[in-house]
Amino acid sequence: MNSQQIKQTDAEYILPTYARFNLCLVKGKGCTAQTPEGDTYLDFTSGIGVNSLGWCDDEWAAAVAAQAATLQHTSNLFYTEPATQLAQSLCQRTGMAKVFFGNSGAEANEAAIKAARKYSLDKYGEGRSTIITLQNSFHGRTMATLTATGQPSFHQHFGPFLPGFVYLPANDITALQAALTPGVCAVMFEPVQGEGGVVALTAEYQQALQSLCNTNDVLLIADEVQTGVGRTGTFLACEQAGITPDIVTLAKGLGSGLPIGAALFNQKCAGTLGSGTHGSTFGANPVCCAGANVVLNRLTPAFLAEVTQKANLLKTGLLALPGVASVTGLGLMLGVDFTNGLTAGAVQQAALQNGLLCLLAKNKLRLLPPLVITTEEIQTGLQILQKTLEGLQ
Ligand SMILES: *Cc1c(COP(=O)(O)O)cnc(C)c1O
Repeated sequence: MNSQQIKQTDAEYILPTYARFNLCLVKGKGCTAQTPEGDTYLDFTSGIGVNSLGWCDDEWAAAVAAQAATLQHTSNLFYTEPATQLAQSLCQRTGMAKVFFGNSGAEANEAAIKAARKYSLDKYGEGRSTIITLQNSFHGRTMATLTATGQPSFHQHFGPFLPGFVYLPANDITALQAALTPGVCAVMFEPVQGEGGVVALTAEYQQALQSLCNTNDVLLIADEVQTGVGRTGTFLACEQAGITPDIVTLAKGLGSGLPIGAALFNQKCAGTLGSGTHGSTFGANPVCCAGANVVLNRLTPAFLAEVTQKANLLKTGLLALPGVASVTGLGLMLGVDFTNGLTAGAVQQAALQNGLLCLLAKNKLRLLPPLVITTEEIQTGLQILQKTLEGLQ
């Protein structure tokens, strides 16, 4: 099919829940993707922070293909090696004790929410089920994670929502102290709010979260679905604030393009979800885990140090561009604001015309390039953005 045929058939048969780029992609390699007509684009999106190793990394593709040709699914009624290895690597990397595998960020967060409620019920009985999340947060699209999401715009149309969620302003320690009433069982937060506009929480606030939660035996849940797995230059973004949450959720970059999510539990709550309390048919799929194992092996300290170097290069380059007002975020997760009434949407569309794929988050241009992007590709992307912005002045 050519692009026109694909778009027509999509319009006819796929539910129109997404605002798509006016672009069909048929193949990709590294940070470059190609249309059916052979046009190529440089990628600053990673499929929304997913393709951490870019498109079709050789080692990743070989491991995934080999696993698909060996044992593609067993159900969780059997032991398998790829999931076992991945869980071990995740615990060794993070200091967490045990892992639950699902297929998405929302599903990882569902596991975290259920575990937090049960942890409290087991220990304190009924009446301690409130979960605090932050205004402007994003935790997923299922009913519980949508309820947890602190953005009223996402809440339109779908009520009634789950009881027991409270939304606090980010970086406000006084509000946090006041909200930690005896009915609270957990606080869930993103170290950098991604969908909310690439807003990093301060280290001071994250440390206050940790110490206040510890004092009150309230579980601290870090939603690292977007920030985790090297995106910010450390394996977890929390490491940079010097905190160790009770539960960490991962998904987007974990499988480098395969659907996998994980909820990691520390020793304190690793025993909460016991036999029969939770499950997921496709969770811990061996093919997805084989892909994720390649990602974890690739993320050495040297690789992560390079991510930080490349992130600094990108951020410095962005700040030097005409019309850029500010750059927010952490590592290779950046948000750009513009001056002179220039909208991020206009910049995104014009950059697309010039061969560069960028994302949006609220009113910002959001950049999530693959972690394997080269410094040359960053320079090329910056040149395209420069040309784009000059064209829009
Ligand atoms: C994307 C995202 C989610 C939801 O992940 P899905 O895989 O789409 O369910 C949850 N939390 C954060 C922080 C995210 O960025």
